[in-house]
Amino acid sequence: MAKPTLKVKVYGARGSYSPTIGTATQIGVNTTCLRMDIGNHIILFDAGSGIINAGQDLFQEFQNQRKDARSWKINLFFTHLHIDHLVGFPYFLMLYMPQTDIHFISPQILDYTLQDTLETFVHPPFFPVGMADLPFKRQFHQMKEHSIVYFYDDDYQILTTVDEPEPGWQAKISCMRNYLHPKGGAFFYRVETENAVVVFASDSEGFPGGDTRLINFAKDADLLFHDAQYTRQEYAMFQGFGHSTYEMACEVARKAGVKKLLLFHHDPKHSDKTLKEIEAAAQEMFPETYLASESMEFIF
Ligand SMILES: [Zn+2]
Ligand SMILES: [Zn+2]
Repeated sequence: MAKPTLKVKVYGARGSYSPTIGTATQIGVNTTCLRMDIGNHIILFDAGSGIINAGQDLFQEFQNQRKDARSWKINLFFTHLHIDHLVGFPYFLMLYMPQTDIHFISPQILDYTLQDTLETFVHPPFFPVGMADLPFKRQFHQMKEHSIVYFYDDDYQILTTVDEPEPGWQAKISCMRNYLHPKGGAFFYRVETENAVVVFASDSEGFPGGDTRLINFAKDADLLFHDAQYTRQEYAMFQGFGHSTYEMACEVARKAGVKKLLLFHHDPKHSDKTLKEIEAAAQEMFPETYLASESMEFIF
């Protein structure tokens, strides 16, 4: 396997909605969006409001550094289709550029396909322009729980877990269905390169003692992004809403033997002070725990 650099950048780490002024913060106000660059591949996870800033950055990069690229190719994965993971999509600048070529790769949630959902959302009366009228090129691919996406130099293949990939892949992305999020669940992703493993596990309600399936899925990851929306007191009120406490996140991190835990999907009502207290308490349980915050970057 070749050894491309894996860069991870957080564009949005809030859950549910963006905090209003007053809670605004060093951690950031935008909802879910992660970017991973693997070699030449640009991969985004979710289109919360964080994708708006990702779009500005990508536009600048393509204009300045990738001028000669025949198409501005972006791979967009979705964990699920709740509004906090979708709200930035119509404002993603790259949709308005004819050079852009977006490969949507997503599992289906319930009966809603990603394409139908996006075309309904980016359409009057919700939005003044219909998605069909936007100039970007697009391809939709359905991923399933037993699918693995293998990235090569300049292409990718979606195979099943029993298929033998062609040699020379640079990265592989697998997914796990998480049933602990209403309604229809959400998907976790595991991104592996020669240099590192990153697991993205947001929008999940854990178990005391840890979610065994997720512990296996996140085994030995270098980074684990895990939902940690609630304090224990809040969880008592919001049990069943599909989100975790930092204790649940720490249990998974410890049992999976991950190197670093990033608390994610921060409650919009939590101030920096509250979040710092959560981080300090979590570090008592799992020392390598940090709050995921906007602009945070990791390079492997
Ligand atoms: Zn969410
Ligand atoms: Zn959700």
